[in-house]
Amino acid sequence: MRERVSAAPQGYRGRFAPSPTGPLHLGSLVSALASWLDARAHGGTWLVRVEDIDGPRTVPGAAEDILATLERFGFHADEPPEWQSRRIPLYRAALDALIASGHVYPCGCTRKEIADSQLHAHRRNTTLIYPGTCRDGLHGKPARAWRLRVPDLPADDADNAGANPALIRFDDRWQGPQHQDLATEVGDFVLLRADGQWAYQLAVVVDDADQHITHIVRGADLLDSTARQIWLQQCLGVPTPAYLHVPVVTNADGDKLSKQTGALALDVARPIEALVGAARHLGLDLHDAAPTTFEAFQADAIDAWKRRLARLPEHSRAQ
Ligand code: GLU
Repeated sequence: MRERVSAAPQGYRGRFAPSPTGPLHLGSLVSALASWLDARAHGGTWLVRVEDIDGPRTVPGAAEDILATLERFGFHADEPPEWQSRRIPLYRAALDALIASGHVYPCGCTRKEIADSQLHAHRRNTTLIYPGTCRDGLHGKPARAWRLRVPDLPADDADNAGANPALIRFDDRWQGPQHQDLATEVGDFVLLRADGQWAYQLAVVVDDADQHITHIVRGADLLDSTARQIWLQQCLGVPTPAYLHVPVVTNADGDKLSKQTGALALDVARPIEALVGAARHLGLDLHDAAPTTFEAFQADAIDAWKRRLARLPEHSRAQ
């Protein structure tokens, strides 16, 4: 085996991982700010990774626009940005390892077949819970996607009482203790899609491990993906980072603010005002509500972030 040329970096490593589906908006600014503040509060390293793996959703020019906006808002990454579209061989290698270890299998089911197989169409957001049809073979169908096996529910006997390997638990540094039963709530999930696209779940886990990310700070809309990512980390034999999911920004109707729901792009002419708004969304009590320089805002916000985390009930348990 080839030796790694360089040793793994030490200490806190965090990242902001935008998908270039449009310009940075208030919701993504909140995630960027939270991840940056947490890295700076820990004296750590902060990285930016462009998640342009989903070809059909990627908008040409959006990545460059987001990177320029981040710079303009005073976020300077400690290493050059990574682009998922340039890292395909890493995803291929991870899938090959999972094929070799028997953790994944080819699946020939169409979406309609999965829906029809369920008496009550179980849905998890827009994702159907996969009933496991192709676990034991393709049943003569052509392979369309690759799925990761989730643990089976325990056999119903007294020896196993209480031990459910499908139940993934983790402590979120903001949201508190979390759990999800992958067998009943998710099912075997796709890593390489029928359209040939690498799934977000695989790319994000491979990249976080390869970049030695120790702390993930992102929006709570991704809380639901975290148990899947922890299981995938276990299958690949890579460490599980600490997680912190900040509340998502919603509009007056309570819908997540995103490019899809028509969120307005940020006023890039007034970056400090937008940053103060994002800090307020995070519940940060800034001493100076109208700072005039990035440096003044940043120093105030880092202190306020530390105070905010100290107020969270989970703070003492999960760092
Ligand atoms: N690229 C994802 C998004 O923009 C974020 C992924 C992550 O932080 O894990 O929603």
